[in-house]
Amino acid sequence: MKAVYLTQPGTVEIKAVPAPKPATGEVLVRIKAALTCGTDLKAFLRGHPLIPMPGLFGHEFSGVIEETGKGVRGFKPGDEVMSVHTAPCRVCRYCANKLYNLCENIMNTKILGAFAEHIVIPRHILKQNVYLKPPCLSFEEAAFLEPLACVVHGMRGLDIKKGDSVLIIGTGPIGLLHLLLAKLKGARVMITGLESARLEIARHLGADLITLPSLLVDNIETATGGMGFDYVFECTGQVEVWENSINYVRRGGTVILFGGCKQGTVVTYDTYRIHYDEITLKGIFHFTPADVKESYKLLSSGAIKVKPLISGRYSLENIREPFERLSRGEGIKYAIIP
Ligand SMILES: [Zn+2]
Ligand SMILES: [Zn+2]
Repeated sequence: MKAVYLTQPGTVEIKAVPAPKPATGEVLVRIKAALTCGTDLKAFLRGHPLIPMPGLFGHEFSGVIEETGKGVRGFKPGDEVMSVHTAPCRVCRYCANKLYNLCENIMNTKILGAFAEHIVIPRHILKQNVYLKPPCLSFEEAAFLEPLACVVHGMRGLDIKKGDSVLIIGTGPIGLLHLLLAKLKGARVMITGLESARLEIARHLGADLITLPSLLVDNIETATGGMGFDYVFECTGQVEVWENSINYVRRGGTVILFGGCKQGTVVTYDTYRIHYDEITLKGIFHFTPADVKESYKLLSSGAIKVKPLISGRYSLENIREPFERLSRGEGIKYAIIP
């Protein structure tokens, strides 16, 4: 099979390697669509602690089961499936406390290699986080199962109600998925980002207000009467934006820090603001099987429509191009079709 290897930041190689064989409890999937993700872009540009190099990469995908290993139940060759690339171990201390996204083994048992013709889904993922793709979803749309699960996880437990005010900072795929989900919950949403083309997409997707960061402070006055937002979602992974996020939330409000910053970076917050204004700052990482299930329901019911987030299609051979375009701020997500 053909597979894309990230050999070092900025360098990808297509190699012909033997297709993997599914062992007991595993399935071999022929990939029909994979998506570029912010994590892949970071790895492509400067390397990433969770993506070893040289190695396969790509983790958002859907496809068709080609072969099943011994003992697989519930799936058969020919099944069209949507999957994520991790699942918790269910035995560690965090899993025992139902903190499945924080499972001690979740990251070292993940699968990478969606930018390839085939991928093997191991038993622990197959048992927990793989769904049959409904015919109403294209393979590209079905590949949103993973990024949407992350966003579902970030909003879980927040009780966003109709009419609540929400600010989303960042118009990348994650910011826009936040927008779709917040609108579904009936919130009034303002979104801010640097690229006007992406802001226009946000408007098209239902944002009540769009603004460039330079006009953000003035627009908070208009949007919330100067009170500040009930919820602020940081979706850029930039240290300055993490720090500024606290300035946009109302007293008693919540700031969700979604975008991962570079390792070792530090932020400073005004203790007076956090204490006397009772601000909640919440970090977000990954997702649980319940989030994946919710993501599956949102996609398959049509409640969340992700098609407008797909900016183009590329073959494995041309995989450099979508990453170069993303690094220039062009497009949202690209589909890689093997
Ligand atoms: Zn992703
Ligand atoms: Zn665990």
